[in-house]
Amino acid sequence: MSKKKQIRTAPQELALPAGGVDTHAHLAFPEYTAGTAEPDMELPQVISRAKESGLDAIGNIFASAEHWQTAGELFSAFPQVFFQLGVHPTEADLLTDEQTEAMRNAVNSDSRIRAIGEIGLDYYWPDQPPQVQKRAFIAQLRLAGQLDLPVSIHCRDAWADTVSILESEGFIGRPLLWHCFGGDIPMAQAILKRGWEISIPGPITFKRNEALREAVAHIPLDRLHLETDSPYLAPEPWRGRPNEPALVVFTAAEAARCKDMPVSELWLATGKNSKRFFGL
Ligand SMILES: [Zn+2]
Repeated sequence: MSKKKQIRTAPQELALPAGGVDTHAHLAFPEYTAGTAEPDMELPQVISRAKESGLDAIGNIFASAEHWQTAGELFSAFPQVFFQLGVHPTEADLLTDEQTEAMRNAVNSDSRIRAIGEIGLDYYWPDQPPQVQKRAFIAQLRLAGQLDLPVSIHCRDAWADTVSILESEGFIGRPLLWHCFGGDIPMAQAILKRGWEISIPGPITFKRNEALREAVAHIPLDRLHLETDSPYLAPEPWRGRPNEPALVVFTAAEAARCKDMPVSELWLATGKNSKRFFGL
């Protein structure tokens, strides 16, 4: 018996209006680079599918000043891509004083950089000792404060330390986006009561993530954002494939089901939030 061919809904078929934002993607990765990308996955195609699917803006992550310097060019033809710059906790030892100064110079010379991120703590991967991660996190929070930029937070298996550093660094009530939220109602409430905002990724569409769907139902619409974390975490029905910004429409559809509202309304509201947050 031959395997049944799976027909997947294309993101354009959801026919969402222009106005959506993917707050978090890694589009300078080899998944989108000519020569290493799968057919149809090169950057220009990925960006045009995003546009056809209703996206106005995409937040690309650069993991160091050098990364921004060498790969920033890729986006010169795509003004709808804005940037976030931050040393990831799994590479925390990259954050030397020179790196911090190079990041400051990058922000001062490129108005497309709208946030410091993703920064935070990740105790899931053992590569970088907690002390090294904390030092890099704190230094970048202070940089964001000096530059008056919002921050985008990566937190994995490090909730208590992440929140306590943010509190002691004076980030309660400051513009902060909790990237790739995967928690439950109490965790969402803990973030919201500190004045922060929440970005929802593709796994909201995965069967087992009932607690996440319940949390999204409780997050006020004006504090909610959407993201892909491309090329990771493709939502259903594209799970298992490299992700791309256009697929954020499926995350929007699931979030709208959780909140029992029309998807186009959630799409435009979250897009508006992200434009406000990043000053787009
Ligand atoms: Zn990321």
